[in-house]
Amino acid sequence: MLAVSEAQAIVLQHARPLPPEGTPLSSQALGLVLAEDVASDLDMPPFDKALMDGYALRASDLTEEGGTLVVIEEVTAGNTPARPVGPGQATRIMTGAPMPVGADAVVMLERTHALDGERVRLDDQARPGQNVLARGNEMRRGQTVLSAGAVLRPQEFGLLATVGRTSILAHPRPRVALLSTGDELVDATQVPGPSQIRNSNAPMLAAQVLRAGGIPHSLGIGRDRKDDLRALITQGLRSAILILSGGVSAGKLDLVPGVLQELGVQPHFHKVNLKPGKPVFFGTVDDTLVFGLPGNPVSSLVCFELFARPAIRRLAGHADSGPFEVRAFLTEDFPYRSDRPTYHPAWLEYRETGWSVRPVPWFGSPDLRGLTRANSFVILPAGDHLHRAGQPMAVLKVED
Ligand code: AMP
Ligand code: MG
Repeated sequence: MLAVSEAQAIVLQHARPLPPEGTPLSSQALGLVLAEDVASDLDMPPFDKALMDGYALRASDLTEEGGTLVVIEEVTAGNTPARPVGPGQATRIMTGAPMPVGADAVVMLERTHALDGERVRLDDQARPGQNVLARGNEMRRGQTVLSAGAVLRPQEFGLLATVGRTSILAHPRPRVALLSTGDELVDATQVPGPSQIRNSNAPMLAAQVLRAGGIPHSLGIGRDRKDDLRALITQGLRSAILILSGGVSAGKLDLVPGVLQELGVQPHFHKVNLKPGKPVFFGTVDDTLVFGLPGNPVSSLVCFELFARPAIRRLAGHADSGPFEVRAFLTEDFPYRSDRPTYHPAWLEYRETGWSVRPVPWFGSPDLRGLTRANSFVILPAGDHLHRAGQPMAVLKVED
């Protein structure tokens, strides 16, 4: 049976970044991946700039004991000095203001004493360039300040504004169609009849898509009939990614893989060596990626994180598509027996000694409630093992 890492490699082989689009730099762009190199349109700072409130002067005018200078004007940020600073002179200056011609240093206000309104006494020596940011020191006009592949975070927003960019080329968020299948499902707004349950996977997967950086699009509930599935899957194949839940195992009404293939979806795998989620399906048709997740809620959630989330990130242009694993020390002895590598819900925490992980009580793939006490999955190898407190374990990190 295919290993998780092999299955992940197959998914990524078929996942290409979506073509870049012109994107305004609104809040919607937060987290997108830049698809162009961005150059500065100006020198930054555009002038020699004072970095402190104080006095702009000629460093050569001061000795080790400082000195006394004549104050010729005052300049605040946003204003331009009118007079050059000559020998024996100083200009009162505020942070962010342009340096007057002739001055080469700023002495901070705290080291000065205004004497009679016209003169200032300075306590110590100054070094040329002190408290001055020279023009172009931060960046030069034409210089690349951000490269394609950069993730747009708050600091990138600020930098783009600095260089006058209000729109950029970025990879769009992939649209992800979601289809829940099963005759037993009713919408969460309904009271289930006998033998029915509410559809919990649809809102759960929609939230996972959002967290992964995609745009969820719900197709509702498909019944376990070929004609119903055919119509809904056909709609779903118009999205970059289609994620189905349920109907992929070996049961009588597990019709999803068959219908997908009838509609031209080429299967790449349909079984992976893991628990929960063994019957997970992955296929492609044209540029659309199709994931068939087993219907048990925790199987759906785990398989999404392992296979669908990396695909969403790759389509969105991220170089590091995940999933993200850390090594963490087990907080307690944990005996566990399983015939397959198991993703067991756990609590991951950073402590002074490093990452630590504690498995949480959980009775298996239908137990979504157990997951509300977890923030990760500790990866337990197949076999009968007594995992010891303090032992390092691989952990699948699904939250920041
Ligand atoms: P399946 O993969 O279709 O065989 O479903 C496996 C189990 O998951 C069954 O107990 C289903 O009732 C349950 N299940 C399937 N889809 C959902 C869903 N959307 N929400 C909650 N439970 C589901
Ligand atoms: Mg089913």
